Amino acid sequence: MLERIVDYIKKENEITVEQLKFLLELKEKADIDYLMKEASETSKKSFGNCIYIRGLIEFTNYCRNDCYYCGIRNSNCNISRYRLTSEQILNCCDTGYKLGFRTFVLQGGEDTFFNDYKICSLISCIKNEYPDCAVTLSVGEKTKESYKAYFDSGADRYLLRHETASQWHYSMLHPKYMSLENRKRCLYDLKEIGYQTGCGFMVGSPYQTIDTIYEDLMFILNFKPEMVGIGPFIPHKDTPFKNEKAGTLDMTLKLLAIIRLLCPKVLLPSTTALGTINSKGRELGILAGANVVMPNLSPSDVRNKYSLYDNKINTGCEAAENINDLKKRFEKIGYKIIISRGDFTV
Ligand code: SAM
Repeated sequence: MLERIVDYIKKENEITVEQLKFLLELKEKADIDYLMKEASETSKKSFGNCIYIRGLIEFTNYCRNDCYYCGIRNSNCNISRYRLTSEQILNCCDTGYKLGFRTFVLQGGEDTFFNDYKICSLISCIKNEYPDCAVTLSVGEKTKESYKAYFDSGADRYLLRHETASQWHYSMLHPKYMSLENRKRCLYDLKEIGYQTGCGFMVGSPYQTIDTIYEDLMFILNFKPEMVGIGPFIPHKDTPFKNEKAGTLDMTLKLLAIIRLLCPKVLLPSTTALGTINSKGRELGILAGANVVMPNLSPSDVRNKYSLYDNKINTGCEAAENINDLKKRFEKIGYKIIISRGDFTV
């Protein structure tokens, strides 16, 4: 039965809700190992044993939004807010470039201080200094005009998780003024402009069900993103979801594997959140079919302020400066980190 389902997903790049349920409920180690092996072999067909790295620069933790799950939400008064200067951001790129990073990911809350002019100038500066590098933005929901201006300034990719493709679920995770409709509008605008675009969702977020996950997968198949970001939901003590349960390693790995089987070429990170819930999470993510990691390049004194969830790891292998440790860990499982922009290819 398991073999038949995996074969079907691989051949058709489709999945039924019953098949999803079956896979997510697998309990036997041998069965789970089989799913992981099939996913990692699929990943190897697309990327060999190479892992792409991205230098993550968390440049502001100010946010106008109030997502119920997120530690940097506007209503959180217990957080110390920061913004990096252009100089600090360029220093991060300099450090990153020397360490072998050829993609910089600028991520932040929706901070109106960084208007389009500032964001465009920042992108132009980075692209002028590092013309062989890709710039990925992850700064939330904007107008199509803003996205176009960033693209024209040189931005290559954009990460905007859709968070959940279910209207009802979306309304349980966000205040009324935020809408799934606008989130999706943003994603379609980004794609149309020409960005390599990434959507995604948290695994185990409050009120998530197999049906909402199925909707997520259907959205992904329909939208055909170049990147998919998934990681476990982890509660943050200063949010309305502080008492909710975290997403599990098992569920995240199974979903990574399923997404890899459905989308063999998609750029799929093994996320920080996965490394936070399990010390071997990063490696296990790769063995479940992920092919990207995003070590933290932010200045070390702000890292613990970008606290999306409790106990977010920011030292050790998570830190860009410890890339050699990460290399060794991946070598142990038969993979190598490469120096490359790591673009999406068909
Ligand atoms: N503001 C941008 C946006 O909205 O896309 C980027 C920053 S936002 C903090 C990046 C991602 O962090 C979100 O898309 C969300 O999925 C994830 N995130 C936020 N809170 C989280 C939590 N408690 N656990 C796991 N992931 C979380």
